[in-house]
Amino acid sequence: MSRSASRLLIAAVAIVHAAFFIAYQRPDWTTQWTDQNGYLLLGRVLAATGRFTRFAGTPQYVPEAMRTPAYPAFVAALDALFGESHLVIAVAQALLFAATCLIVRSIAATIASDGVATAAGLAVALYPPLPYFAALVLTETLTTFLVTAGVANGRLPTQGPAKPMSSWRVSQLFGCTGFVFEPRHGDCAHFHSGIDLVGPLGGAVYSVLPGLVEVEAPSGYGGGYGIHVLVHHDGATLTMYAHLLTATVVSGQVVVAGALIGYQGSTGLSTGPHLHFEVRRAGVPIDPTTVFPSLFGSSGPPFSILPVGVSPRLN
Ligand SMILES: [Zn+2]
Repeated sequence: MSRSASRLLIAAVAIVHAAFFIAYQRPDWTTQWTDQNGYLLLGRVLAATGRFTRFAGTPQYVPEAMRTPAYPAFVAALDALFGESHLVIAVAQALLFAATCLIVRSIAATIASDGVATAAGLAVALYPPLPYFAALVLTETLTTFLVTAGVANGRLPTQGPAKPMSSWRVSQLFGCTGFVFEPRHGDCAHFHSGIDLVGPLGGAVYSVLPGLVEVEAPSGYGGGYGIHVLVHHDGATLTMYAHLLTATVVSGQVVVAGALIGYQGSTGLSTGPHLHFEVRRAGVPIDPTTVFPSLFGSSGPPFSILPVGVSPRLN
C-alpha cells in the first residue's frame, strides 16, 4: 500500500467511524445528554462575554471549565464562526479526530515500517466504543497521540549518543600519525581517519546513533577496513565501525542508537583486535572527539547531527 493510500484509508475509517456516532447519537444530544447542551451554552456565553458560565449574569461555572478547560473555548470558536449548532461541533470533532489519526501515523512512520504506521493510525481510528462522540473523543485521541509522541521521542537521538562498546581504551587518535600503515593525507605523511578503540576481546559493537545500515565485506588485503559497517544518520553524516570479526546486521536495516551491529575483530589492515571508529560528513573524515565529546572527551566545539529520517541514502 502506498503512503497516500494508507493516509486515505485511515482518514476514511476515522470519518466513517465518526459519522456512525453522529448518526447514532444525534437524537440524544438535546434530550438524554443535557451536558451536550451545557457545552453549547458555555460556548455561546464564552463567545459573547469571555466568561465561563452557561447563562450570562450567573456566576462563573468553574467545575466545567476545570474538567476540560480548552473544550468550551473550542465550542465558543465554532459558535462565533458558524453559529450555534450541535452538528457543526460534531463535524469539527470528526475532522480533528481524523487529523489526530493521521498525525499518529506520521509519528509511527518515523520509528517503524509503513505497515506498522498504518496499523497504528487505524487502531486509533477504530478506537473501541467511546462514551459519546463529543468531548471525550478528543481526550482519548489526544492521550493516544501524546503516548505515541512520547514513545517516538524516546527513540530519537535526543538522549545523546550510545557507547560504541561497553568499555575501551584509545590506542590511536584521529589525525597525523607516525604509524606507517596509514596513507598520506594533506600535510600528514601518515593520516589516521578515525579513532582506534581497544575493547574487551570479541566485545559487542553498537551503533552510536539511529540510522540506515550499509555492510561492507573486506575488499582484499589493501582494503584496509576489513569487515566494516557504515550507519547513515542523515543525507551527509555516517559513522563507520571497521575491522569487525563479524557483522550482525545487513544492508538496508534500520537500527536504533545502541543497537548491536557486530563484534570487535582484527579483519583488514589491523595489528590486533580493535574497533576503528570513523565519522564522515559529506564523505570527509572528521575527528570523532569533536562530534561526540560526551563519548571521547572534547577537543573542539560540539557538532550537531541531524535526526534520523532525513532522507538517508546508500552510496
Ligand atoms: Zn584506525
